[in-house]
Amino acid sequence: MDFRTQYFNNITITSETEYQALCAQAEIPARTVKEIAHSEYRLTYAEFLADEWAAMTREERCRQVIDAAYLKHLRILAKARKRAPKPVELVRCDCGHSVPRIRVMSASMGTSCPRCYDRMSD
Ligand SMILES: [Zn+2]
Repeated sequence: MDFRTQYFNNITITSETEYQALCAQAEIPARTVKEIAHSEYRLTYAEFLADEWAAMTREERCRQVIDAAYLKHLRILAKARKRAPKPVELVRCDCGHSVPRIRVMSASMGTSCPRCYDRMSD
């Protein structure tokens, strides 16, 4: 049995502030997102038997549990970012208006937004 599980499931971190507070409480330095990412594989897959867990220092145990919970939160954030639609890129046309790139029209007097197309066409 992975001994970490019983601790791991008890901690939920929902913000960076919460992570830092937990680290402060456990008296371990908070890690940066980059450092957490570096340890991602271990934090996700390392399993500890009871005697291994007992042999670890208090700091190592806190590190493992708190960092793993923070990694979970970071993954949720990353997923949400992926789902969010990309911001529409606006292009300024020669008619003077800005429209999404996909809506730019090519008129004889230059690029145009759909509304100005007739005026921009000779
Ligand atoms: Zn226009």
